[in-house]
This record gives sequence, structure tokens and C-alpha cells, in this order.
Amino acid sequence: MEKIKMTTPLVEMDGDEMTRILWQMIKDELLLPFIDLKTEYYDLGLKYRNETNDQVTVDSANATLKYGVAVKCATITPNAARMTEYDLKEMWKSPNGTIRAILNGTVFRTPIIVKGIEPYVKNWKKPITIARHAYGDIYLNTEAQVGKGKAELVFTDENGNETRQLIHEFDEDGGIIQGVHNCNKSIEDFAKACFNYALDQKKDLWFGAKDTISKKYDHKFKDIFNDIYEKDYKEKFEEAGIEYFYTLIDDIVARIMKSNGGMIWACKNYDGDVMSDMVSSAFGSLAMMTSVLVNPDGIYEYEAAHGTVQRHYYKHLKGEETSTNSVATIFAWTGALRKRGELDELPELVRFANKLERATIATIESGKMTKDLALITKLEETVTLDSLGFIKEIRKNLEDLL
Ligand code: NAP
Ligand code: MG
Repeated sequence: MEKIKMTTPLVEMDGDEMTRILWQMIKDELLLPFIDLKTEYYDLGLKYRNETNDQVTVDSANATLKYGVAVKCATITPNAARMTEYDLKEMWKSPNGTIRAILNGTVFRTPIIVKGIEPYVKNWKKPITIARHAYGDIYLNTEAQVGKGKAELVFTDENGNETRQLIHEFDEDGGIIQGVHNCNKSIEDFAKACFNYALDQKKDLWFGAKDTISKKYDHKFKDIFNDIYEKDYKEKFEEAGIEYFYTLIDDIVARIMKSNGGMIWACKNYDGDVMSDMVSSAFGSLAMMTSVLVNPDGIYEYEAAHGTVQRHYYKHLKGEETSTNSVATIFAWTGALRKRGELDELPELVRFANKLERATIATIESGKMTKDLALITKLEETVTLDSLGFIKEIRKNLEDLL
């Protein structure tokens, strides 16, 4: 078979620990034999981030802005223990945070559904995608514990004029106060990213907040979404046969529980934090979640939703067998290859990405899986494979499909 050609390189962001091992296995077994893989390679492994004073992370994000599509391996976010383990010059920031800030993106997370790993909510037949706003609210708060006295909200405009609103008069028991904010621009970019992604995926978009209680703050989110929708997206949604609607977040929760899934659920920052954990747990496993960062101009960065699986890596280093699930990392690659294929009009590349996903799902549905899935599957006859064994089984299925 002749290898599939690519025209524009993918931005390849390599990573750390067990996922770095899986990364190489996936390339060797599932990609390089079939594709003339074109990538611009950035090593985001912690060792090289440290050597370059984290410049490599910034460079990889800028390359993503240039080329439009990236695929990222999980990376270590350093903490005190990593400072000594890797002899770091500094406690470098989270690469995902750095990349998200440069791309100004919204993260969309979607479970990968396979027969035999059933969602806990029995009527959920299609995946539910969570779109989480990644700026502001309580994540950038100012807060205090206070005693007796008066708390006020003070705003000073650019000319020095003050407006004051009473928050609360505290008695001797005291209490707690908190200031939060968001910026119109950030909410607009979030809204655009959601509308674009819904069109890209041909899925309905639901957005919920609490505007009945928060008549200015949450109401602003509702208004911004609505204005942008009416102005720029309504016709496109109608043409695509998809729907956008806003309702109270409580109403969304009730409707989601009764739905068959299949929608994109846009959430404010905190709601997205909580609800994405609920959705991913209800669907089974973080190792079966795709994650993509989308910016308002249609730049895409695909990754797995889980971390570097440190515990498995230490077993691997000791020469012990590991059974680490590579599905989310494989789907990061297929997501990126498919997007590259769509943008560059390479139908063969799109078909390859689809087939690799089908081969991966078929492998699990035939009972061959890694240990994490074997523990939760409803399938009766299963074979638990090691990390490489699982990838080799996928390769067999892929070769049958090609
Ligand atoms: P983790 O790597 O997601 O792993 C936590 C546990 O979940 C593992 O020990 C394993 O459980 C299970 N697990 C996760 N992914 C799995 C997979 N693919 N196959 C099988 N089991 C899997 O989270 P962590 O241990 O909290 O974090 C490790 C490192 O990852 C940290 O340095 C953190 O900074 C980084 N991290 C990176 C990202 C990212 O780059 N996107 C995200 C989160 C965390 P068992 O051990 O019970 O088998
Ligand atoms: Mg959370």
C-alpha cells in the first residue's frame, strides 16, 4: 500500500512519562506504516522545557497559530516534587495553561462510546460534549473573611468617579465576601468558539446559566451569546439543521438527564469544572475522553483528557508490564489528522482517521482491552492486554479495514 500523503505539517507536541511511551508506540504501529507523516515536532517533555526555559511551549503554541492544527501529548505540570525529580530551574507553569492563553481557546471534552462500557445514565446513547469557559469568575477571585462592618462593591471609572453598592452589613459574627469578574471580550470569544464548534460537529448547542438570580452577571453571558447568535450564526445553524438555545442551568441539568445525549453543553467556568467531571465519570473513564482546544478563529489543538499516568511509568521504568489505555491519545491523533485532511482537502487522510477510530473501537468491542476497561466492562469474555499488545491488536483491525 502506498502511504497517504500530507501537505501541511501538524504541530506535534510530545510530552511526558507513560503517555510519551504510548506516543511513540502509536506513531510506530498505527501512523508511520500508513501515512507519510508530516509534523513540526516540539518536545514539551519537562526536561526540554527546562532546558529552553519553557520557550519550547511558547514556540509550539505560536506554530499552532501558524499552521492551524496541533496534537499534544500529556505533560507534567511541575510541583515541588518535580523540582527535585527533574532538577528544575523554575517551577514552570502548566503547558496547557500557557498554550490556552496564547491560543485563547475553549476546551471541548467528549466521551468515546463503545459497546460494553455503558454510561451509568441508561438513556445516554450519544456522547455529551462539555464546553467550559476557561477565564474568570471564581478562578480569578478576590476574597476575604471579615468581622463586624460594612462590605461595599466599589467601581472607579477611568475619570475617577466612584459608584458604590452595599453588599452586606455584618454583625459581630462576621462572614465572608468575594469579588469576581469576567470580560466581555472573553465571553464573546467563548460564545464564538462554541458556535463554531457546534457547526463543525453538526451538533446542537445548549447553554445554561443562572440569569434569574444573577440579573447582571449571568444575564450578560446570556445576552452576549444571544446577540452573537442572532447576528452571525442563526442562518448557519438553520442551514446545518442544528439548534442553539439558552435556558437556566437547573433546567439544562434536568433535560440532560432525560436526554439521549449528542449535544454540546456550554458551561461557565465553575459549572464546566463540576459538570465535566460528572459527565466523564458517568460515561466510564478519563482514558475514554477526547479533548480539543478550539480558538475563535478556528485553530485546533487535540489532546487526551488524562495526565501522564505517572504510576504506570514508574512500573515501566522498572521493566514491569503496564496496561495503559492509549485510546484518548490515539483519538487526539485521529482528531488532528482528520482536521488537517478537511482543511487541506485530503479525503484519504480523513478516511484513514475514521478507520483508525473504528479499528480502536472494534478492538475493545471484540473484548480486547487494557486493564482499566476490563475492570468496568459489561462484556463477558475479555482479554486484558499490555500497553503495546493493545496497540498491536488495533493495528490488526486497522489493516483489515484499509
Ligand atoms: P493521570 O495521569 O490522569 O492518572 C491518574 C490515574 O488515573 C492513574 O494513576 C491511573 O490509575 C488512571 N489513568 C489515567 N489515565 C489512564 C490511562 N490512559 N490508562 C489507564 N489508567 C489511567 O493523573 P495524575 O496522576 O494526577 O497526574 C500525573 C501527571 O499528569 C501530573 O504531573 C500532572 O501534572 C499531569 N497532568 C497532565 C495533564 C495534561 O497534560 N493534559 C492533565 C492532567 C494531569 P491507576 O494508577 O489506578 O491505574
Ligand atoms: Mg474539576
